[in-house]
Amino acid sequence: MLRMSIQVFGLPVSRGVAIGRAVLVASSRVDVAHYFIDDARVEAEVGRLRAARDAVAGELSLLKRDLPAEAPAELAALLDVHLMLLHDDSLTGATKQWIHERHYNAEWALSAQLEVLARQFDEMEDDYLRERKADLEQVVERMLRAMARGPGASLVPAPTVATKDFGGEHPLILVANDIAPADMLQFKGSVFTGFVTDVGGRTSHTAIVARSLDIPAVVGAREASRIIRQDDWVVIDGDNGIVIVNPSPIVLEEYRFRQRQSELERERLARLRHTPAVTLDGERVELLANIELPVDAKTALEVGAVGVGLFRSEFLFMNRDGGLPGEDEQFEAYRAAVEAMNGLPVTIRTVDIGADKPLDRMSVNELRHEHALNPALGLRAIRWSLSEPGMFRQQLRAILRASVYGKVRLLIPMVAHLSEVRHTLEALARAKQQLTDAGRPFLDVEVGAMIEIPAAALVLPMFLRHFDFVSIGTNDLIQYTLAIDRADEAVAHLYDPWHPAVLGLIANTIEQARSAGKHVSVCGEMAGDPVFTEVLLGMGLRSFSMHPAQIASIKQRVLRTDARRCASMLPELLQSDDPEQRSRLVQSRLLDPQRSAAV
Ligand code: PEP
Ligand code: MG
Repeated sequence: MLRMSIQVFGLPVSRGVAIGRAVLVASSRVDVAHYFIDDARVEAEVGRLRAARDAVAGELSLLKRDLPAEAPAELAALLDVHLMLLHDDSLTGATKQWIHERHYNAEWALSAQLEVLARQFDEMEDDYLRERKADLEQVVERMLRAMARGPGASLVPAPTVATKDFGGEHPLILVANDIAPADMLQFKGSVFTGFVTDVGGRTSHTAIVARSLDIPAVVGAREASRIIRQDDWVVIDGDNGIVIVNPSPIVLEEYRFRQRQSELERERLARLRHTPAVTLDGERVELLANIELPVDAKTALEVGAVGVGLFRSEFLFMNRDGGLPGEDEQFEAYRAAVEAMNGLPVTIRTVDIGADKPLDRMSVNELRHEHALNPALGLRAIRWSLSEPGMFRQQLRAILRASVYGKVRLLIPMVAHLSEVRHTLEALARAKQQLTDAGRPFLDVEVGAMIEIPAAALVLPMFLRHFDFVSIGTNDLIQYTLAIDRADEAVAHLYDPWHPAVLGLIANTIEQARSAGKHVSVCGEMAGDPVFTEVLLGMGLRSFSMHPAQIASIKQRVLRTDARRCASMLPELLQSDDPEQRSRLVQSRLLDPQRSAAV
């Protein structure tokens, strides 16, 4: 059936255009493996599906047989419904088709078909029938568990193989209500070439990870996962935050053209890899990378980063079934990143668990409705670390041990109180003592603070006395200055990096740190957004940390900018209270079109 073309608006997260078929994934099933199988494996995957169906049929029949006499009659009826759903051709028959025609692995095929059927249930008039969706989900859950136990479950190919589309011609776009940041991470190098989620703000951690995957993405698209159907054609315009469902041939052609243009632009930018980042007036600028996992360090080097400005170590701690990573496991991870950077500095941030980065697998909706009232204001980052002293010292020891393999810096997130600074430094001293006592080698590392809570920015000199460097976390600084939950799409329009209070705090932090002779960097998303490059250079910033994929375009901006000229425009910008005027000022005065064209 031909479906109408629809546009859905959300928040642009990651630039570029993606065109492909929609794959709807339920938030609770994002951990299902998604990979393509080759022709030779099709029958084996169908076999796994059949085996899972038979195993579940056995389980359900046994349950029914062993029901105690006093069990309510509805229970037996319910098991019958489950058995009926299990054997219905719309489940297993259609799932086989996804395997045969699209070459999806069995788990993926089953979840894809579940999404199709769930939609049909949602649209049913009859209440009783509509509620059967939950039964269907339980049956599928049982089948997925049976597959995980059965043979072939461990055959998930390496990501490089997974990106190959054996299904043929079509790239795939992942569509979900929400995806937790740690779940998003598992899509690195996966089959998907674009993402759309219903919830999330531009600097939510889900968006940040999506950006690090370097594929077009839109978040906060509210109804997207309800409007888009499994297998619909979808265009993601990651520059403007637009999702077009079932585009007309003309629109499709236009976007294919833009897609080619942006690929050409990428290739052009990639040539800047070895060019040093120096402004027109000769100011050297340090472009560092933000990474989530040690493997990202390789990408950082490849794109010309001169170090890692932020290693978000919390991703090593999230979604683990077997407890937190121990000292040795952490040490290996930090060492891998440090060695990969070949002597370039690696800034390891101690865990920033909490808010939208829970330790356990949890969706944004669960977080919002079932947990702390204000998780962003709760036991997060250094607050959590200090409340778990054993865990904290373990992490500090692991980081210190990695210092022997390169240049390590230690970064502390979310400091707001001087007592936190004192306790952190005491924990560090104890960790060093423990290593010395155990005869384990380590070097002295520089210690820095994230400036991301307005309180810290407002009394910066007090903090500067205790730290070797500071790194401005603009994502949280904006969130806490404006009292806007960065993960909440409902208030995303008020999340304004141009707010004079925000710009004032950033400018003061840079200025005060520089006059105290302390290294200052920005590692929030503003650092990787070319719209802010001139403003930050004008404020005196000479160190930017961002996703590896953003380094080339920021470098291009730096090469085109006269830092002195930017600085001279700054007072006017900081005093302006009119957003329109501010943006005009930046467009017309800071950017010199003639010079821009020359680079
Ligand atoms: C920030 O807050 O700007 C930052 C870099 O840290 P995170 O995004 O991990 O909170
Ligand atoms: Mg932060």
